[in-house]
Amino acid sequence: MNRASQPELTDLEQRVLARITEERWETLTTEMVRTGQPNSVNPLDPDIPAGEEEAIALLVAGKLEAMGLSVEKYESQPHRPNVVGRLAGAGGGPTLMLNDHLDTYPAVEPAKWDKCAGDPFRATRHGDWLYARGTSDTRGNLAASVLAVQALIEEGVKLNGDLICCYTVDEEKDGVEGSIYLCQEIGLKADYSITAEPTAWGGENPEWGMNISVANSGHCLIEIALQGIKSHIWRPDTGVNAISLAADIIPALNTMPFTHEETELMGHTPPCLSVVRIRGGLPGEMQFSPDDCTLTLAVVGIVPGMTLDSVLQDINGVVAGVLGNRNSVAFSARQVPGSLFVAATSAVGADEQPCVSIRKAYRQLLGDEPKINRKNAFNDTIRFREAGMNAVTFGPGEDGWAPVNESISVSKSVAATKIFALTIMDILGVAS
Ligand SMILES: [Zn+2]
Repeated sequence: MNRASQPELTDLEQRVLARITEERWETLTTEMVRTGQPNSVNPLDPDIPAGEEEAIALLVAGKLEAMGLSVEKYESQPHRPNVVGRLAGAGGGPTLMLNDHLDTYPAVEPAKWDKCAGDPFRATRHGDWLYARGTSDTRGNLAASVLAVQALIEEGVKLNGDLICCYTVDEEKDGVEGSIYLCQEIGLKADYSITAEPTAWGGENPEWGMNISVANSGHCLIEIALQGIKSHIWRPDTGVNAISLAADIIPALNTMPFTHEETELMGHTPPCLSVVRIRGGLPGEMQFSPDDCTLTLAVVGIVPGMTLDSVLQDINGVVAGVLGNRNSVAFSARQVPGSLFVAATSAVGADEQPCVSIRKAYRQLLGDEPKINRKNAFNDTIRFREAGMNAVTFGPGEDGWAPVNESISVSKSVAATKIFALTIMDILGVAS
């Protein structure tokens, strides 16, 4: 498809887009990346305390207020305010929500961040890429969503429908104090929602793009408790070492298939698992071979139809297959206490809003159609979809999660910011 076949941008649209520059996006992202860190890192581990997103929440709330939105902070936990800004329209349009989250995942080994001189929260540009924890996931996307709204307001655009800018806490722990709280306790509602989270592909290749993720895969945490027989290290022949049992089952777990029906949109992996923690052997017991070992598994890529029961049944089947006929061995599998089973979501139609307007803006600016996919990760899109909204994910971060030297493309970010601005005008309508 070529650019010339697309509807021309109006004068107003061109003036709005002229306000969206690399410099503005980079300045805002750099400020957001360092604000309130490392306090707002929020590990998925249910047994490690959550982060506190207060500082970044107040920064974002202040910016929205300065832009003229009416801002509410909704807090279910101390120092963890969700920020909801509202811009009332002239009337006669739908309600559109822009969303992103305020927490990040951790950066526990600063020395490995050589692109940021050992400081994971100092945004550092190399070429087209801005490096730091929280650039790609997700403050670079957050800055894009804020700057898009700012450009509209500065240019005096009056919208017909209502715009909501919703920035959540606790997304990295599946949304309990954030999106779930807002939907279930506060009654947050919109017709359409766009979560500005990573959907870009292509990395540094000349061929790149951003998907519209119209559905998400689910995930869960499972633990397998293995029990053998404790023995003295001088007499291993009298015991059953539980760590050795774990070593025997891990290869089978790593390659196990999960029972599922293929769906039209699969994520980038089939349903699968990673072993994320192993506990075995007690301090002070090096004279003994251990009788207990617990494996923690992260199961991802869950598609519609898979349930906690089906996942547990599959895992039990694999463990029983390896250990079933051994004497003096017991095992059990369960959901990790304090964690949630997150089911896969049903897809929003690519010919429904907000996809129609995102696709139109994408064609106007990039001369091509965005790809449609299922995002193989948690984000708040899942909770908004569960609450009945037409919720999708679209954003300039790379749809891959760098443990160190996380980065985001500056040019993709500017393109996404412009797409957000055009999409908001197209969905909500511009009052004359
Ligand atoms: Zn994220």
